[in-house]
Formats: sequence, structure tokens, C-alpha cells
Amino acid sequence: MSKYHKEIERRRTFAIISHPDAGKTTLTEKFLLFGGAIQVAGAVKSNKIKKHATSDFMEIERQRGISVATSVMSFEYNGILINLLDTPGHKDFAEDTYRTLTAVDSVILVVDSVNGVEDQTRRLMEVCRMRDTPVIVFINKMDRDGKNRFDLLEEIEKELKISLHPMSWPINSGKDFKGVYNLHDKNLLLFSANTKANEEDSLAISDVNDPVLNQLLGDTDAAQLREDVELVETVHGQLQIEEYLAGKIAPVFFGSAINNFGVKEMLDTFIGIAPTPRSRETTARKVDVEEDKLSGFVFKIHANLDPKHRDRIAFFRVCSGRFERNKYFHHVRLDKDVRFSNPYSFMARDKSIIEDAYAGDVVGLFDTGNFKIGDTLTEGEDFYFTGIPSFSPEIFKEVVNKDPMKTKQLEKGLMQLTDEGVAQLFTQFGGNKKIIGCVGELQFEVIQYRLLHEYGASVVFNSLPFFKACWLTSNDPKKLEDFGRFKQANIAEDKDGHMVYLGQSEWFLNTERANNPDIEFHFTSEIH
Ligand code: GDP
Repeated sequence: MSKYHKEIERRRTFAIISHPDAGKTTLTEKFLLFGGAIQVAGAVKSNKIKKHATSDFMEIERQRGISVATSVMSFEYNGILINLLDTPGHKDFAEDTYRTLTAVDSVILVVDSVNGVEDQTRRLMEVCRMRDTPVIVFINKMDRDGKNRFDLLEEIEKELKISLHPMSWPINSGKDFKGVYNLHDKNLLLFSANTKANEEDSLAISDVNDPVLNQLLGDTDAAQLREDVELVETVHGQLQIEEYLAGKIAPVFFGSAINNFGVKEMLDTFIGIAPTPRSRETTARKVDVEEDKLSGFVFKIHANLDPKHRDRIAFFRVCSGRFERNKYFHHVRLDKDVRFSNPYSFMARDKSIIEDAYAGDVVGLFDTGNFKIGDTLTEGEDFYFTGIPSFSPEIFKEVVNKDPMKTKQLEKGLMQLTDEGVAQLFTQFGGNKKIIGCVGELQFEVIQYRLLHEYGASVVFNSLPFFKACWLTSNDPKKLEDFGRFKQANIAEDKDGHMVYLGQSEWFLNTERANNPDIEFHFTSEIH
């Protein structure tokens, strides 16, 4: 057992994920209130981009640059140290969210009871499934007239391909919403709007047959609840924690974040069952979370858009050992030893310099261009953590240099911005046409703006008729080489020299796959 065992045991590192507007920001805020990290509601700013406009994004990023605190929020609750990692809500920044999911040990997924499963919910869950991340589902907005709860659960199970296990059961919804019955503790939580953080008291009842239910809920609702509970218990039985930890079963809570209803109940369960930091695979071996030596990786790089402070902050997730201020660690890719005199930790709205950090923690490291996503720090050993994905972009544009005098600056800018993970850079095969691939339009505007303001390089983009990039591999190098030659117009190299096929449409892609059975087309690539 590690000498840091106690520290590891008391940490829970997770993210709240949802389709925009389901209630992620509201729930985050309630958690922070419980943790005593903030005192008033409204303190957490939504990082949502309301309009599809660069100026909005820039403004938000500028604010965030000054106070990157919203990226990671650490607080204590009942002796447990909670690291809550924020994820961008806007779909154009989905890649950032996906990568943040590689740095957490579990997630809470918020589903809007009215809208059910939405686009982003689906995509986010795909990433969770890839990594078998344990998921707790919070069905929010029960104070609104939502879908029938049985239908909703069925929809979630089917659409998200995960089995659910209700932990509580709602009594009506909308204006008739009366509260939830806790199936596990067998008590009743009566709904009242705007519950204060410390006032969520449940009513003890012996079980669902307790006649007091009739007094509290009325005969009809009490009867309905008994019927529902019987059905739910027959279908779902007891929650098997191992199945939750294996990412196979998701416990479900019903509540209303804005009314702070059902939130404490979930938080209490969360700290009880959510996984502590786990061991992780690397390119060399599995790193045990209990090892004494430091290891960890950079999963996000945050540029500071304030022109007066052109630094970046690399977010480093500690996977084992102890991170210490001013101690030399081994930067594997650069093969050099580096130390940090001002590492940050993030306590809700402030960032402060820390002396040390343990597995599960996220440390903010000042960076002047030494880091890229996926970089590893160790105490000497060479390896990279695996499973940090790059997803296929969906929009592709050629970079056209408007100012040949600034070619060097442009190249540097492109390299650095793509190191941050805002976009992917491809070079067309056999030529030197630079192609940028992004998930959303907004990123092109951001890149154009940043190239000009940070690097003095002026560019325009030419749209290209591609819709997906597939990374190509084959057991037969000759086949790959021939394919590259025949399909030159569709072939490019990513930044690491891997060959990719740029497909114009699903039809072309499927045709090429069918015609080339010896070549594998991958929609994601692992950074290592
Ligand atoms: P995010 O985009 O997922 O971060 O969602 P927000 O937390 O910003 O919430 C989106 C909107 O839903 C806001 O107007 C919230 O006030 C509202 N909202 C959040 N929770 C609830 C709830 O439990 N009931 C109702 N009726 N509205 C809610």
C-alpha cells in the first residue's frame, strides 16, 4: 500500500456532463454550496456560448483566462476531497470535453426530464462507454411536466446503451410534483421549491406501505407510488456496486437542481460509491495508483487570451505518487527535467499556489510552449498514458496564408494552437497544403483571430469538401502505400506523421472501405 493511500482514498475526481441547458451549471453550483466553496447562488457563471459568435467566445475565454478557476473546482464535503472538472457546454468545443473525460474517474450525467436524451448526451456517453467510466444519472427539472418516468428510463437505456438502476422514485412531476421516495434508504423527501443547501431533510417512514404516506401524499398518489415501487423493485433488485464501477449500470436520481431538490441525496450517495482514483494503462505497463513515484498527464491546455499575459496553463492530472512544487520531474517527450515554482490548485473561484498534490488531483502548470496534450511527467521512467483520444473532425478547411512575410509565425501559431487541442492539423500528401480540421465552425473563427492577434499571421480559410478523417492502418505496408498513391487527393498526414484518409461523404468512405479490406479505417486515434 502506498504511503499516500489515505490521500488517494479520500479523493473523487469527476465531471458533470449534459446537453446544454439540461442543468449542469445549476447542479454544479448546488454542489459547491454544499461543499461550502461558495456562499451564494449565482456565483458560478455558465460557460455557455449563447450566440454563435466569436466575440462571445472571446469574451468568455478572456474572463476564463483571468480566472481559469471554472475549469477545475475542488472542495471538501464530509471529509471527501472532490475534484469537479468542468467541461465546455458548446458542441463546437466537444473535443475539449471528450479529453477532459479521460482525466476523471466517474461522471454525473444530467438529463432534462422534459427533453430526454439529446444529441450531446449521446455523444458524451459514447466517450464514457469507450472508457467504461462509471456514470450516475440525474434526471433534472422534475418540477416541470416531463415525460412519463418509465418511458424516460427506457429511452435513456436504449439510447445510451446502459442499464439503469433507480435509486429514488418521483411522485408525479410538474406542478403536481410532490417529492421522491428513496428506494434504498426507504424514506421520503417532500418537494418544496428553493430548498436551502442544509435544509433537505428526509422523512423517515418504515417503508412504502407505511400508512403515513397516505396522509402525506393523498390516497391516489400513495397508491400509485406503491405500485411503481413494487414494479421498480421487481425489475431492478439491489444495486450491484461492482457493476456501477465497471460502467455497466448507472444509478439514477430524480430531482430539481434549481430548487436544490434531490441534490444532497445524490451527492451523499456519490461520495459513498464513486470510485477513488484508479490505476491506469500506459504505453509501457499499468501504473498502479498506489505507486509512490509521480506520474500523470496533460489533458487540456488553456491559453490566456489576455494579450498582457500570453502564457498558457497546462492541466495536469496526477495518476500516482506525489506532485511537489519545485521538485524536478521528467518530461518524457522532451526528455528533460522540469520543475514548477508556481503550480496551481483550484478551489472553486480562486486559484492558489500549492505545495503538493496526489493521485486524482489536477494541477495547473504555467507553460510557455513546452506542453502538448498527452504529455507525461514521471520520476524518470518513459511512458505515455493511453486512451487519450483524438476524434475525427467534421469540418475541413485549407489554410491560405495572406502574408508571406509571416510564414514562420504562421507555422509556429498553427503548431502551438493545434498542440492545445483546439483543432487538428493535416498536411496534404505529397504537397504542403495545410488543412485544419475542427468539430465546429466557431473554432475556425477563433483560430483566425488568435493567429492574427497572438502571432501576427493573417489567414483565410478555403472550405474543403470533406466530412471525416479516418486514420489508416494495415498489416500490409505495401497496400497502404499503394492506396496513398492512388488516392492522393484524399490523403493527408496528421501532426504525428500518421496517414489519414479524408472522405467526401459516407458513400465514398464506405466504398473505399469495401474496396480495401486490408486497410483499417479508424474514426478516432489515440494520442499515444
Ligand atoms: P447547462 O447549460 O446544462 O449548464 O444548464 P443551466 O444550469 O444553465 O440551466 C439551464 C436552464 O434551466 C436555466 O435557465 C436554469 O435556471 C434552468 N433549470 C436548471 N435546473 C432546473 C430545474 O430543476 N427546474 C427548472 N424548471 N429549470 C431548471
